Amino acid sequence: MMKLIDTHVHLGVSKFSGVATTETDIIDAMKKYNVETSLVMPQPTLEDIEEVHRRIARFSAAYPGKIYGMAAIDPWLDEERFDSQAQECFEQHHFVAIKLHPMGHNISPLSPRCDQIYAAARKYKVPVIVHTGIGNPFSLPSLMIEPARRFPDVPIILAHAGFAVYTDEAVVAAKACENIYLEPSWCPTYTIKKMVDHIGAERMMLGSDHISNLPIEILKLQTIGITEQQMEQILYSTPKQLFHIS
Ligand SMILES: [Zn+2]
Repeated sequence: MMKLIDTHVHLGVSKFSGVATTETDIIDAMKKYNVETSLVMPQPTLEDIEEVHRRIARFSAAYPGKIYGMAAIDPWLDEERFDSQAQECFEQHHFVAIKLHPMGHNISPLSPRCDQIYAAARKYKVPVIVHTGIGNPFSLPSLMIEPARRFPDVPIILAHAGFAVYTDEAVVAAKACENIYLEPSWCPTYTIKKMVDHIGAERMMLGSDHISNLPIEILKLQTIGITEQQMEQILYSTPKQLFHIS
C-alpha cells in the first residue's frame, strides 16, 4: 500500500458551501482511505479564525505526525495583528503552510496587502497555498506568476490547479516559475495527466479539499496512466519534502 499525504483538508464550516467537517470526520476518512498524514486549515469561514487555528493546533497535538496545521490569516489585517497571528501559528503551533484564498479573503494576489502572506512564508520557511479557479478575476492562476518571481525562494502551490476550467493557465504559470507547484483537486483526469507530462510529478501533490473527494482524487491518479513512481511522488514524496513532514 502506497503512503499518502492529503495536502488540502479543511476543519470547520465553509461560508460558501455550508459544508461542516469535524476532527472525527477527518480521522475516519484517513483510516478508510489509508491516509498517513493530513494537512489541515480553516475553511473560508464566518467562524473566528484565531479560534479555528487553536482548534487545529489541538487536533494536531492529539495526532502527532498524522495531523499538521496550516494558517489562513486575513491579509486585510493591519501589520501588527497579522504578524501576531503568524507568530502564534508558526512559532507556537508549528504550522506547515500559509493559505491565500483570493475569493474567501476577497483580494487580488497582486494586492500589496498579500505581501504579508508571502513575507511570512519566507520568514517561517513554509509554502503558500493559493486557492485558484473559482472566484475570478482574483483566482486566476496566472496572477501568481508575479509574486512567485518576487519571492523565488517561497514555494507556491496552486490549489485546485485552476479548478478544471483554468488548468491550462495553471500549467503555464508553473512552466513560467520553478517555485510554482500544482495540486489538481477537482480537475478532469486528462488535464492531470497533462500536468504530470508538462510539469512533472516532482511539482505535484494530492489534495482532497472535501474529504468526500478523497477516494475520487486517488482513483483519478490511479487511472490516468502515470507510473507507480510518479504516483508515489505525487501522493507522498513531493509533499513530504515541501512541507518538511518528518
Ligand atoms: Zn479548499
